[in-house]
This record gives sequence, C-alpha cells and structure tokens, in this order.
Amino acid sequence: MLWARYSAALSSSGRPVGRPLDGMLHPGRQHGVMLRRYCGVCARLAQTNGGRHLHLVTDDERLESGTVRTVHPPVCLDHAAAAAMSPRLRHGYTALLVRASVLSGVLGTPCTPAGLGVRLAPGEHRFVPYTDKETLRWFLAFGLVRDLTDYEVVNPNDLVPAA
Ligand SMILES: [Zn+2]
Repeated sequence: MLWARYSAALSSSGRPVGRPLDGMLHPGRQHGVMLRRYCGVCARLAQTNGGRHLHLVTDDERLESGTVRTVHPPVCLDHAAAAAMSPRLRHGYTALLVRASVLSGVLGTPCTPAGLGVRLAPGEHRFVPYTDKETLRWFLAFGLVRDLTDYEVVNPNDLVPAA
C-alpha cells in the first residue's frame, strides 16, 4: 500500500496555509489525527472525561451492524460547535461519545504498476479493509478509516468543556 503525496503550502514559520477544502483534511494530517484520535480542528488530544472521544457522524457512515465507519477524526469539546458547522454535516448529524474503536482499513484507489510508477484504476475510490491484503498490495491510500464499535448517542449541548 502506498500513501498519496500532496503538496502543502507552508508559511515562513512552517505552518500550513491555504483555503480549507469542503469537509476535507490534508491526507498527511488526516493520517496523524485519525491514528492518535486527535481533534480534527486543533490537532490536540480529543479525549473527554472518562477516556471517550466525541465523533460527529452522518447517517451514511452507519453500517447495518450498528458500527459507524468513518474517515473523520474526533473533535475536542472546545471545537464541537465549530466542527458541527462543517458542510459535510449540513444535512444533520449525530454526536457519539465513543468508548471503543478500531482502525479498520483505508480509503483510496486501487492501482497497477506502470513503468517506474503506478496507474490508478479509473473512477474507483473506495474503502478497503486491512484484511484484504491482496487489494492493498497495489493501492493508493489517502484516508485512514476507523470503525466506531462502542458508543453512546449524546446531545452535544450537554457536554461541557473541561475547565
Ligand atoms: Zn479541538
């Protein structure tokens, strides 16, 4: 499996600059915050009291089993309101306090070797589980995917940021 490389414009102090894209995180940043479960807004620890993580999810991320499969990182309590304004949540969302989750696979595109590089399969862009090692041999990934397996639905207005 390969990870997609994207350019990043940096300011003179080395911080990323530029206009945020609709609901998208830079793949390098998405990987880091999703792996460590940092806040998708401030990239700091997103753990709430009790060691749970707040995720804002949409109905299309919910599997029939009840598991929620998401490419979006959690948010800290300070940024829950800002994150809820994201265009991806404009048609509604559910707030979950997540007790248990697992990195289940990656979002990306299958590819084939071509000369010294790779050729992407046209039009394909999908989730592949880590168990599918055959597909992942030639795969260009750009998002880590986490399955939220144990959670409680909460009203985000009831959550109070830690003082
Ligand atoms: Zn935050």
